[in-house]
Amino acid sequence: VATPIDTSTWTRVIRNAMLATCAEGRPFGLIPKGAVALAGPRIAWVGSKRDVPAALPKGCVVTEANYALVTPGLIDCHTHLVWAGTRFKEFQQRLQGTGYEEIAKAGGGILSTVAATRAASETELLTLALARAAKFVAEGVTTIEIKSGYGLDKDNELKILRVARALGKRLGIHVRTTLLAAHAVPPEFAGRPDEYINNVCDEILPAAHAEGLVDAVDAYCDNVGFTSAQVERVFVKAKELGLAVKLHAEQFSNQQGAALAARYKALSADHLEHLDKEGVEAMAASRTVAVLLPGAFAYLRETKLPPIELLRVHRVPIAIASDLNPGTSPYASLQLQMNLACTLFGLSTEEALLGVTRNAARALGLRKALGTIEPGKIADLVIWNAEHPSELAAQFGLIRPAAVLRAGAA
Ligand SMILES: [Zn+2]
Repeated sequence: VATPIDTSTWTRVIRNAMLATCAEGRPFGLIPKGAVALAGPRIAWVGSKRDVPAALPKGCVVTEANYALVTPGLIDCHTHLVWAGTRFKEFQQRLQGTGYEEIAKAGGGILSTVAATRAASETELLTLALARAAKFVAEGVTTIEIKSGYGLDKDNELKILRVARALGKRLGIHVRTTLLAAHAVPPEFAGRPDEYINNVCDEILPAAHAEGLVDAVDAYCDNVGFTSAQVERVFVKAKELGLAVKLHAEQFSNQQGAALAARYKALSADHLEHLDKEGVEAMAASRTVAVLLPGAFAYLRETKLPPIELLRVHRVPIAIASDLNPGTSPYASLQLQMNLACTLFGLSTEEALLGVTRNAARALGLRKALGTIEPGKIADLVIWNAEHPSELAAQFGLIRPAAVLRAGAA
């Protein structure tokens, strides 16, 4: 005889759901005639609807899903969402054949966004960022990672991170903030990248951390960014402060960034088009998530594909993110990224969904709290106007949430 289910703490039951729990064990963690019970902000029970006890506590709300798809809230684990200015002219330049490095060396690229972002007030930045974030919220995103990296000095980096935190409070979503001071060399340190790295380690990072603004530390390791030796100095400082690290690695060239990230037990290494076998093996050993950014790949019309099959063989968890930024991935949609990850990189629709739920949570160090529909996790749930989890990646713009619960609240 099965132990009776304790329903005493239940506050809401969603029943008759096509429940894609994204938990391990079966494709999509699917329970076709599923039910999920909440106790306040947390998930209390998950199972088949026929196992839901008939007698529920007084006041427990029953939500009839009518066999609609229910998934965890979507997680965008890599964005540069807080910026000012625009870079649309670069798009046209690039279409005419001008390269990323050429644009960067001519003072365009990241540094033009840095100038505009430095000039903007915290209030102006928040207004701009709220409008962008609202696009993600409307398509079922309940957690967003936001990086700094357009300030490149202490005051402006902290300003961006404060805006990111304020945005999370305003929209009632989870925001994870990542310090990306090592994004580019600011004009006042032109030609002196090592001195700028000193400034990152001695001033910017400690100040941002002291204000409680840093959930993780990121850097840009590439031939147009920083060398792996420079990145390592940032990682050493981050570890000293007890902070997790991530890395923009192997986007345009192979600097062995992923292996470096793995040595520092990085939560994730992101981009990875030029990742090699050694890098994949290192990531597998450290359980570092591979965050793929198909939007940047598409926008820059890249042709070198990330080594998807090697990642699969070595069981490296794969996440997908928007990389939302004004210059190389101005796509304010995570659902679009799911589709691009399938069409451009050959991911399955299941890999695409896990990439914006379970594996994205892991990439943010949140795997115990978010990313799947399992007892004990935060009840961030989306009820879709769809019947099957494959639909989310198989289209773009046709499927919208019918309802979103954030920490159990509608
Ligand atoms: Zn990025």
